[in-house]
Amino acid sequence: MEQMVSELTRRVLTGSCPSVEEAMAILGAGGADLTLFLAGAHRIRERAFGNRIELCSIINAKSGRCAENCAFCAQSAHHRTAAPTYPLKTRDEIVQGALQAQAEGSHCYGIVTSGTRVREGEEFERILAAIREIRATTTIEPSASLGLLDEQTARALSDAGCVTYHHNLETARSFFPHICTTHDYEEDVHTVRLAKAAGMKVCCGGIFGLGESLEQRVELAFTLRELGVDSVPLNFLNPIAGTPLEGKKDLTPLDCLRIIALFRYLLPERRISVCGGREPNLRDFQSWIFMAGASGTMVGNYLTTSGRDRETDLQMFRDAEVEVHAC
Ligand code: SF4
Repeated sequence: MEQMVSELTRRVLTGSCPSVEEAMAILGAGGADLTLFLAGAHRIRERAFGNRIELCSIINAKSGRCAENCAFCAQSAHHRTAAPTYPLKTRDEIVQGALQAQAEGSHCYGIVTSGTRVREGEEFERILAAIREIRATTTIEPSASLGLLDEQTARALSDAGCVTYHHNLETARSFFPHICTTHDYEEDVHTVRLAKAAGMKVCCGGIFGLGESLEQRVELAFTLRELGVDSVPLNFLNPIAGTPLEGKKDLTPLDCLRIIALFRYLLPERRISVCGGREPNLRDFQSWIFMAGASGTMVGNYLTTSGRDRETDLQMFRDAEVEVHAC
């Protein structure tokens, strides 16, 4: 095994793509074999990023009442959850969030709204105005996550200075119908392509522990590689009461590390950030995410759940001997 992992790592470092069988071997590794893959993923990350990591933060700018039925999501109107519902925040609130995220060392600030797509008119204009102001008054990179895009919306975001568009595929194409039936996977793929075509970077990943198979985790990684996404947020299910996935606990901390390593081997030079579900799924292994190949993490609160306190995360970065890349 040692020789196989070292040969695979060498090939990835020289530009080759792992085979499906090799990718599956990462997800199936245990014991000392797993640590070989983690060391390989760590080496690949260091080649691309040194010991620098990037932090991102989000604002849940509009919460709840979403017409989509994503099974994991607290904000779907199809589920009865305790998630807050409120209309779009003011421009000032969104900009204030960016200033705070910058002061706390985040590199990227995501403006996230619930819903299938952004409502045209005053609502969209408010988001564009906030993005322009963030670009004019901060150095943080604004990102938007407003659901499905059309060409005109993508162009307007790009023109306003939105650096990155965030839109997760959530899971593998072959598993998506088990998770969402109110829109088609291809609409999500199309949105990713439109955002890229409009000149924005694309942040696109998924959520794990939904009931997908190991093969489907590999399938998602290959899809994201083919799409050429710029950064990949990895989320781990934090099952919310009132959603169809309430009580589901498929992932162990080492499963999360296997997933991070898989994505690092498949997307060796892309930003890979550990986002929602870090605390409940990785538990004592949170500091291992960088040694498994992650180049960043989300700090602060998530969309509908709380993150842990900032000082604890800062201590973890110091302990892991990674350097936060300020914007
Ligand atoms: S994940 Fe997004 S699209 Fe799906 S229900 Fe939640 S807010 Fe709506």
